Amino acid sequence: MNHDPDCIFCKIIAGTIPSKKVYEDEEVLAFHDIHPAAPIHFLIIPKQHIPMLAQTTMENTQILGKMMVLAPKLALEAGARPGKEGGFKLLVNNGADGGQEVYHLHLHVLAGPRPWKHELPG
Ligand code: AMP
Ligand code: ZN
Repeated sequence: MNHDPDCIFCKIIAGTIPSKKVYEDEEVLAFHDIHPAAPIHFLIIPKQHIPMLAQTTMENTQILGKMMVLAPKLALEAGARPGKEGGFKLLVNNGADGGQEVYHLHLHVLAGPRPWKHELPG
């Protein structure tokens, strides 16, 4: 699997930088964001080093779909309220204009009772 030894999220996957894990399998890792912008804020990342969403191809549809399908399940497990009254927000920052700071693809999952911090990540 493709890794970048200088990438902070690859180091989290390798375990050389600690994280508060939410979920892990052979393809994806989810962990709490170090600077939460909402009461619940975690990141879902592919274990494969893909720098940004704009660099994905049709070969990545399975992993992208898996990240999307996992998001609501993991949000509920992390304490997001179910149904119409509860919910969550998904966010992908892409490139400098998109506010991306870490160049390893990640899906932000934000949830929990409002108010949230005014600024969204990125
Ligand atoms: P982005 O602006 O979309 O690239 O967001 C990167 C996110 O990664 C930010 O919300 C950071 O707070 C978060 N982050 C950076 N370093 C770590 C880390 N070591 N553990 C957990 N989250 C991190
Ligand atoms: Zn990486």
